[in-house]
Amino acid sequence: MLAERVREDFPILKQTVYGKPLVYLDSAATSQKPRRVIDALVRYYQEYNANIHRGIYRIAEEATMRYEQSRGKIAAFIGATRPEEVVFTRSTTEAINLVAYAWGRANIRAGDEIILTEMEHHSNLVPWQLLAAEKQAKLRFIPFDGQGILQLDEYQRLLSERTKLVAVTHQSNVLGTINPIKEIAMTAHAAGATVLVDAAQSVPHMPVSVGDLGADFVAFSGHKMCGPTGAGVLWARYDLLDAMPPFHGGGEMIMLVQLESSTYKDPPHKFEAGTPSIADCIVLGEAVDYLQGIGMAAIRAHEQRLTDYTLRRLAEVEGVTLFGPRQLDRRGGVVAFATDVAHPHDVAQVLDQEGIAVRAGHHCTQPLHRRLGVAATTRASLYLYNNESDIDALVRGLHVARHLFSPRPAPAKR
Ligand code: PMP
Repeated sequence: MLAERVREDFPILKQTVYGKPLVYLDSAATSQKPRRVIDALVRYYQEYNANIHRGIYRIAEEATMRYEQSRGKIAAFIGATRPEEVVFTRSTTEAINLVAYAWGRANIRAGDEIILTEMEHHSNLVPWQLLAAEKQAKLRFIPFDGQGILQLDEYQRLLSERTKLVAVTHQSNVLGTINPIKEIAMTAHAAGATVLVDAAQSVPHMPVSVGDLGADFVAFSGHKMCGPTGAGVLWARYDLLDAMPPFHGGGEMIMLVQLESSTYKDPPHKFEAGTPSIADCIVLGEAVDYLQGIGMAAIRAHEQRLTDYTLRRLAEVEGVTLFGPRQLDRRGGVVAFATDVAHPHDVAQVLDQEGIAVRAGHHCTQPLHRRLGVAATTRASLYLYNNESDIDALVRGLHVARHLFSPRPAPAKR
């Protein structure tokens, strides 16, 4: 099993919590980091810490070279045709805000429509709300059915000549649903709309080629794919980046600055003002090397098998309601559920006492939860290092929670 081979690579998984082995089931929030990623961060600070794109001394040149090398690795990893299509950001959130600000303000006008889905993370929702309010544009939403599958017939009905953008998550961070982006993008393009994909939950977990997706913008976060926090990616078609005005203004994104006006560098540097997260962006390249060494198809296959196991084991626990599609080819390893005995936070707290890390709450998807008719869920999310015994521990923990919270008969009066 893949997990047995790679677990050794993740030092954090060796620890115990409350005397019990740590069972980490929250990789949708952030993934753990392999030793070589941690070592690469230390190596940067110990050996060649310097600001990039400006120093003319050796270690600054090395930092610049490795920063640009990492961009190239990421471009190859997602099948981009050129490294200049990869813009380093802090995160998925920043990447989407970049598009909303720079592309959105230049291209969205009063009366235009932006199509989103009811399963979006707040970071692919709030930036468009801000833009729509500023521009008097309208937001439209593709609903999902009882299985958590997007209703594409509704999408067809929503599309019109007013649609300027379709922004959709590739994989839901709650339902696990993998959306048919290729089909969604083709339909959007036929209607003349631009397409953004929130790939925060897909790029870390499956082979993703931006060419195959057929989108115009793709956003993801390094920290969910074995990389450090502070490094995210916006991939975009070069011609779009070239036509877009800048996002942040400042050092390093300019060609010539005068007191009253400036000219800007070509993409991607036009969008990377100031000192970036140098170490984190460099080390994201190390994470990409690590994932590629294992193989994204192998990671996807492993997670599919383990998702199957998780769904089957959780379905055996009395009172558990599972959300999201049952078909394994339509979903990833994010499993949200509710129990009939306790609030998800209480369940997560009991699990914590058993050394099990899961997330409870609305997972930054309040409208999705409202649609499900629940205020919150407990979420177990899988990655390459999880195995069946992690799921067995989760199931045991849920039995403990059931036992603790189940109503007991009142003691008999004497
Ligand atoms: N979109 C989805 C689908 C996510 O799961 C997340 C992270 N929970 C984000 C966007 C935001 O990612 P970040 O916090 O790294 O910006």
